[in-house]
Amino acid sequence: MLKVAKFGGSSLAGAEQFRKVKEIVEADPSRMCVVVSAAGKRYGKDSKVTDLLYLTHAHLNYGVSHEDIFSMIEQRYYDIRDELGLQCDLEGEFARLRAKLNSDISVDYLVSRGEYLTALLMSEYLGYEFIDAADCVFFSYDGQIDYPQTYSAIAARAVKHPRFVMPGFYGALPNGRIKVMTRGGSDISGAIVANALDADIYENWTDVSGILMADPRVVENPKPIQYITYQELRELSYMGASVLHEESILPVKEKNIPLNIRNTNRPQDAGTMILENIDERLVRSKRLITGIAGRKSFTVLTIYKKHISTDTSIVRGTLEMLENYKVEVEHITLGVDSFNVVMPSAQIRDRIYDLISDIKQRLKPDRIKTADDIALVASVGRRMVSVPGSSAKLFGALGEQNINIRMIAQGSEEISIIVGVDNRDFERAIRTLYDGFMKDQEGDAK
Ligand code: ASP
Repeated sequence: MLKVAKFGGSSLAGAEQFRKVKEIVEADPSRMCVVVSAAGKRYGKDSKVTDLLYLTHAHLNYGVSHEDIFSMIEQRYYDIRDELGLQCDLEGEFARLRAKLNSDISVDYLVSRGEYLTALLMSEYLGYEFIDAADCVFFSYDGQIDYPQTYSAIAARAVKHPRFVMPGFYGALPNGRIKVMTRGGSDISGAIVANALDADIYENWTDVSGILMADPRVVENPKPIQYITYQELRELSYMGASVLHEESILPVKEKNIPLNIRNTNRPQDAGTMILENIDERLVRSKRLITGIAGRKSFTVLTIYKKHISTDTSIVRGTLEMLENYKVEVEHITLGVDSFNVVMPSAQIRDRIYDLISDIKQRLKPDRIKTADDIALVASVGRRMVSVPGSSAKLFGALGEQNINIRMIAQGSEEISIIVGVDNRDFERAIRTLYDGFMKDQEGDAK
């Protein structure tokens, strides 16, 4: 059994968090590979080391003194080392880094030091080997991760050092220069290690006990999701639930490695298990939906033309126009004599009249109508496909609360039902759906 455990910034924010990480790692000997983010926030108004490093570089760029910020960063690391009684030569590391600050340091190199130093400290603390991501995570010149080369480099290193700590978030370009991933990229690094080593589980340790069924800012105390498929997660993330770095899913999904989201502050919680295929016998909850998410402020364009369903050229023409306008199309629904296109209002607001006049001129519709301030709410659940009456239940719940449904769409493979409601009904719609589906929990674990 081999587990890859990735710890996020909040799990590494200070010495106290390092202690929790060590306890977690030592509680299970199969936690052999550890991937770390940079030290994150210790409390609400604190700063993440990564942000401070970006800020340091901005100061360098503008020729403003970076001394205050940089010494804050140093102090964070010294505090962790000294409180834990570690020996790591941070003085040497910072002296070398300071020398580089005064020459031409790249932003990526500087920012990557957050993860690098966190990993150095953690490897000493755990007694695990330190493996530098610069030596085994590779990018091609187009900025894409070179997965085959990366997988074999990591696998080769793990043969020599089966227990190791690797910094997340960065790797090296073919010329050896450091390149960082997009923000939150350590999730990807962890998944890469899991794939390279054929891990049994990829554990992603953070500060919540898994993915919640709905946004806690909207629904009070939403339940965590016990099991979710990658596809359901994708639908939820797309609709606004921010959980994992999107790309991080691919390397583990490819090998069907379960991804377990866990809480460093509550290791006793099972967290959320994300899988390609779920053995439903293991799942306690029999709810129809897995989660609810949504986004506000869409514009719906309704175009009328007789017999549109038999002559769809106007649909093609409209989509081509939107492509030229570089506007994303969220959804399209087609009726007998009309069709709807849903797009983010922010992308079309200033050009909507140009678009309408272009469509009128070129495609000669019978009529065009627009509606703004529409919110989309997705109820996502793999069980909905096989249970008749799922949508009746959903629409019924909204109807009972007098929430007007402006549009209905179905997501891919029937695992999600999306309704458009007025922006002002957004929160109420989510709460109504959540309450409605939560009632339906026969067989659910209390
Ligand atoms: N430390 C980086 C960030 O703040 C990467 C990560 O945490 O995954 O985005």
